[in-house]
Amino acid sequence: MNDVLQDISAAQRIVVKVGTSTLTYETGKMNLKRIDQLARILSDLRNRGKEIILVSSGAIGIAMGKLGLSQKPQETRQKQAVAAVGQCELMYLYDKLFSEYNNTVAQILLTKDDIAIPRRKRNTQNTFATLLEMGIIPVVNENDTVSTDEIEIGDNDTLSAVVADLVDADLLVLFSDIDGLYDSDPRTNPDATLLRIVYDIDKVKHSAGGAGSSRGTGGMITKLAAAEIATSAGIHMVIANGANLNALYELLEGNPIGTLFVSKNFRGENDE
Ligand code: GLU
Repeated sequence: MNDVLQDISAAQRIVVKVGTSTLTYETGKMNLKRIDQLARILSDLRNRGKEIILVSSGAIGIAMGKLGLSQKPQETRQKQAVAAVGQCELMYLYDKLFSEYNNTVAQILLTKDDIAIPRRKRNTQNTFATLLEMGIIPVVNENDTVSTDEIEIGDNDTLSAVVADLVDADLLVLFSDIDGLYDSDPRTNPDATLLRIVYDIDKVKHSAGGAGSSRGTGGMITKLAAAEIATSAGIHMVIANGANLNALYELLEGNPIGTLFVSKNFRGENDE
């Protein structure tokens, strides 16, 4: 495990994904303390010379709070409209908070075609590369306003892994409302144990429950799908609890946090 942790501590290009449950309270309103903390920590890492890409959910969740909706919209056209309101609010806040820490953000909204069509993929990669060269922190979400079933990536866990692959990241960190992957569902089994390190995703698939909270989209299934994309692309992935964003520092100091999925490049014969 130590060589993996050492490799992680040296990660230069890092994709951080935060889910709706990390960014909002149970009331549906924005968790400003958390968002401010996120902006401060990512700005600090950027100042250290790390390249940071933030994949942020929350457009629909934040709009629900803003518009006073008690339930997540179900119909596509409603989701699209609500996301248009929320994305604006989300970026307004990120722009304001990152600016306070002297860092610049840029919005990138993606659909499946931006990754599937080679010419569009190249353009997207060029944009990311240029923003990173300029020292800017790209903030990515799915383009929910135009996404329909046919062209949607679907959930931001998958999106973050696709982005990590697209930008050739060294590390992907998914902040969720749970400490990591357990051997059984901790919401129903008090004896469930947190898995610290996973080399073979197939061996832990049975541990993934269903969907996550009522505000977000992902659960463990989408997180394992993300782990599969990231680790096969040679990228380590970590699932950690968004209630402690400072854990990012611990990780970069070589300490284990949450559940670590090891990149395929680090899987030796004796690792199982
Ligand atoms: N793109 C959605 C939003 O911003 C979130 C999807 C997800 O959390 O997986 O609300």
